Amino acid sequence: MKIGVLALQGAFIEHIQILQALGVEARPVRLPAELEGLDGLIIPGGESTTIGKLAATYGLLEPIRRMAEAGKLIWGTCAGLILLAREVEGGAPPCLGLMDIRVRRNAFGRQVASFEAALPIPALDAIAGPGEQGRPFHAVFIRAPQIVQAGDGVTTLARLEDGTIVAAQQGNLLATAFHPELTTDTRFHRYFLARARKP
Ligand code: GLN
Repeated sequence: MKIGVLALQGAFIEHIQILQALGVEARPVRLPAELEGLDGLIIPGGESTTIGKLAATYGLLEPIRRMAEAGKLIWGTCAGLILLAREVEGGAPPCLGLMDIRVRRNAFGRQVASFEAALPIPALDAIAGPGEQGRPFHAVFIRAPQIVQAGDGVTTLARLEDGTIVAAQQGNLLATAFHPELTTDTRFHRYFLARARKP
């Protein structure tokens, strides 16, 4: 199992460290050739315009789209979710446009631009270890986006109490508006790896 983490800008080191702690080979990806032989890819949080522009400059967008078409698992966290979206409100960075979601950037306003929430995420029970069953996920939101609309093929994994969608999945695409790599709860990474392992 070899997972790539897009390492152009943002919180990529934290993802690499969690993958390594879970015994998985993790490769920072900066160039198209580094996508070869990967079983999955994580696009981290950071600044989506910067990541999108750099990805376009390095010629990474098209090879990542091909990877998704080949059925490889791709997970975007926060800015990574924005890059996965088919539609971005209010000025889109260069995007992959893979996932049938409309996204609003910096959707929580300045006062509450960053906050934390305990989210029930029933899908994580599929990989839960002892004591983890049913446990809410401590989600860290940093100037986070919202999924304001999701197509028919998209499954919602988590919502805030007011109904806002903050985690979703469409086939081999996974998106979280929050940052599981900034906590010690590895369930989301294990959920991703379990799906990447499926043929
Ligand atoms: N606000 C950032 C953006 O729009 C995303 C924030 C994050 O990744 N933590 O790119």
